[in-house]
Amino acid sequence: MSHVFPRHTKSELPVAAGGDGAYLIDADGKRYLDCGDAAVSCLGHSNPAVIRAVQQQVEQIAFAHTGFMTSEPAEALADLLIQHAPGDLDRVYFVSGGSEATEAAIKLARQYFLEIGQPERRHVIARKQSYHGNTLGALSAGGNAWRRAQFAPMLIEMTHISACYEYAEKPEGESSFDYGQRVANELEAEILRLGPETVMAFMAEPVVGATLGAVPAVEGYFKRIREICDQYGVLLILDEVMCGMGRTGHLFACDHDGVAPDILCIAKGLGAGYQPIGAMLCTDEIYGAIRDGSGFFQHGHTYIGHPVATAAALAVVRELTEGDLPARAGRMGSKLHSALEAAFGQHPNVGDLRGRGLFRGVELVADRETKTPFDPSLGIAGKIKKAALAEGLICYPMAGTRDGRNGDHILLAPPFIINDEQIGELVSKLERSFSAVL
Ligand code: PMP
Repeated sequence: MSHVFPRHTKSELPVAAGGDGAYLIDADGKRYLDCGDAAVSCLGHSNPAVIRAVQQQVEQIAFAHTGFMTSEPAEALADLLIQHAPGDLDRVYFVSGGSEATEAAIKLARQYFLEIGQPERRHVIARKQSYHGNTLGALSAGGNAWRRAQFAPMLIEMTHISACYEYAEKPEGESSFDYGQRVANELEAEILRLGPETVMAFMAEPVVGATLGAVPAVEGYFKRIREICDQYGVLLILDEVMCGMGRTGHLFACDHDGVAPDILCIAKGLGAGYQPIGAMLCTDEIYGAIRDGSGFFQHGHTYIGHPVATAAALAVVRELTEGDLPARAGRMGSKLHSALEAAFGQHPNVGDLRGRGLFRGVELVADRETKTPFDPSLGIAGKIKKAALAEGLICYPMAGTRDGRNGDHILLAPPFIINDEQIGELVSKLERSFSAVL
């Protein structure tokens, strides 16, 4: 019996006992190529610079509450992020993970409009089949029906427009560009329906991760979204908790779309698993309204700006930027895509291969022609996760929930240090896992 909630038995899962670059090692010495783990470990599991930074910071000072003191790593990390951040983002609020970042973004948007004398702005619009975290505010923004179902009566009322999910939802005969414009225009229709003076923010993932499996928007979609937000004075919150920090081939995923948000949420790759940390970046216009208004963001957690977490993240961001690792993620991602195409391009149960950089999705279907998903009761994704673990591969399979048409899919998010040989290993282990299940 395991006392760790929510595990039931110790034997259910291997015990993580070590890490070596792209590999996790269990207590029996078995090695697993880590291409999943929720897109966290972008530098692999034994990065010496990050380990040293954590060790040194613990020895120097582990914790000082930000209500009383700041710390060198927190200041340096904020400076470095701002140096590379898109658009006018120039303030950083540190938190401990993704849900805290999106939750803080929602509250910051609300307080901003109070400060500038628009208290009637209270609505957040987000998208169907999205995920923004599991705390109640973040879950309210998420549009995944299955994740929301149990908590529906407790959620904040937010509305959801269509995802930009070309493979499953673009009608035949419509161009990708027109499809993107059409689904982006749903935002305008929703703003008008709610009343523009009542809408405070639109929240979206530039590349949808957990709920759809590495689905980027089509060309032009986010440019149109940005225009609509500007037209109606609505803040654009981009959630790059999963797709940010270099994973798509750019340090920030929205760089690819050529848009900059008013508020940007990051986590996962920021700490690369060495420490739990997330951040919310915002413009000086938003921060300034609070600074010059009530003077205080009405929010906070005990561990914001934690010295050890920020020291780890500082070392991570230095590794990413000084080593040009986002570009490497782009290059290795193209190789991975080609290898996946060669292995699964004709597979009868592979409907779509997509993604950006080292953030790739494999959509599984019962029928390629009709794009019909597998019956969720078959538990295909769960079976593949198990088969892959047995092969020594960690990938991130997601069960289909039949929100819209999304079915089972496999998310692949290898570390940016992955090499050619390991890409071969990943694809052949995945092939064997598919053969065992499909
Ligand atoms: N937003 C996105 C896009 C995510 O993928 C996740 C986590 N999968 C979250 C928010 C929540 O992050 P956390 O689990 O760290 O709270």
